[in-house]
Amino acid sequence: MFIGHFVPAELLQLVAPNTPRWVALAGVSFPDLLWGGTVLAGVETVEWNRDSPLQKDIKFVKYPYSHSLVLATLIACIPGLGIGLWFGPAAGLVFIAASASHWLLDTIVHLHDLPILGFNRDKKVGFGLWRYGWVALLVEYAFFAIGTLLFVPRQSWTYVLVAGLILHMINLNSFIGLTKKNLIPSGKVYAALTFVGFGAAIWLFNAAY
Ligand SMILES: [Zn+2]
Repeated sequence: MFIGHFVPAELLQLVAPNTPRWVALAGVSFPDLLWGGTVLAGVETVEWNRDSPLQKDIKFVKYPYSHSLVLATLIACIPGLGIGLWFGPAAGLVFIAASASHWLLDTIVHLHDLPILGFNRDKKVGFGLWRYGWVALLVEYAFFAIGTLLFVPRQSWTYVLVAGLILHMINLNSFIGLTKKNLIPSGKVYAALTFVGFGAAIWLFNAAY
């Protein structure tokens, strides 16, 4: 999931309006940014599929640090604590809550590969909406659009909806498979692209209103 993750950031901004906007935006992005780093470092592993561009054909073999409910949220407390000390406790809590929301939303689309604890004998979850490419494509944007209408000031609706649509379309091939082969050559390249995608999203939505 990509733009859908930014709905909790919109909600948190409404609940804690005095928090700098980038805090919630960085919080919801944190697990995927961490994942980009751990995959590049070889700490977490992804099994890349050169013969399919679809999200459902990527195997997230091991990612307990970035994508478990318990361990990843504990790790998010480290930057959360720093942000809390610098910008006040509310900002720290916003960051941690935003990061935890990432796992919850990922459970909707991922295929039974998201660990709960992140250590020991663990259970994995994921409802697998990615199996239905077109549905997942439409549901994620609809969710983003509804969240935007509910939580974002009216004067920014057009900007946020258009920016979100452009970002969503970057992922189009991974939903519906316009190409037969995967245009992204490896998991490491994909991990590096995560920084570009989420970096662009944080920057665009931060400038929204
Ligand atoms: Zn994720």
